[in-house]
Amino acid sequence: MPPRKKPAMKIRFCGVRGSISAAGKGTQPHRGNTSCVEVRCGAETPSVDSGTGLRPLGIEMARRGPVKASLFLSHYHWDHIAGLPFFAPAYDPRSELTIHGATRRGRDVRQILSGQMIDPYFPVDLGVLNAHLRFVTLQDGGEAHVGKAILRAAELNHPGGALGFRLEHEGKVMVYATDFEHGTPADERLVELARGADLLIFDAQYTPAEYEGNNGVLSRKGWGHSTYEIGVRVAQQAGVKKLALYHHAPERDDKGIEKIAAKAKKLYRGAFAAREGMEIAL
Ligand SMILES: [Zn+2]
Ligand SMILES: [Zn+2]
Repeated sequence: MPPRKKPAMKIRFCGVRGSISAAGKGTQPHRGNTSCVEVRCGAETPSVDSGTGLRPLGIEMARRGPVKASLFLSHYHWDHIAGLPFFAPAYDPRSELTIHGATRRGRDVRQILSGQMIDPYFPVDLGVLNAHLRFVTLQDGGEAHVGKAILRAAELNHPGGALGFRLEHEGKVMVYATDFEHGTPADERLVELARGADLLIFDAQYTPAEYEGNNGVLSRKGWGHSTYEIGVRVAQQAGVKKLALYHHAPERDDKGIEKIAAKAKKLYRGAFAAREGMEIAL
């Protein structure tokens, strides 16, 4: 038998919650860590976001010795950066970390990340991270190369800004699009970004009723997030193969997530709910 071809890309969800971590009885097996996706393209790791899911990933990576890794940050809301000060490889002087992110309001990625490790929010500053850190600015329309993988960034619609990413390696494509609110010209850009992707990871934080605010439910319009219905629409328009519903609301228990996933699956066969620890090979 010929040897099985290695996957072009391996994706592992290390944190799938939005807004704030949600530990507790009702959040197994989807679990409570916030946004973080480990991506492997051969020997390279162009991983995405550093929410609390980055902490357990870091422990695992550090066990294997010094780390050489790339990290792409969609934006700087707490649920996407809170794991970085607890990322074990960042304290190892033998590790090399390249962190990519956008400049916002005149402050670059290093300056912004320094801002979360500052008195009175944190006991020590960014200087305690002993690893060899490299900060790279990535803006709307920008590209980055990690080994043979190519990543392209596009601005999403989100308060304060957020970048969506299209990552390509050996003919396979993953698109990461959170945090994103529909209903603006950014919808079209997202469809283009996701065109023909093998996997689209999408912000499905709200149900349509929560988003619209019907029947006395508080409307979440303008809060910067979307629904599974919009995820399905983008996936259909872009001809995406698999749709991972992601950035689950912290108050939603596992039953609630599975209910949403079942509804999405009826509309689109490739839809499923991302779960912490879930691995996908492309
Ligand atoms: Zn978020
Ligand atoms: Zn956000």
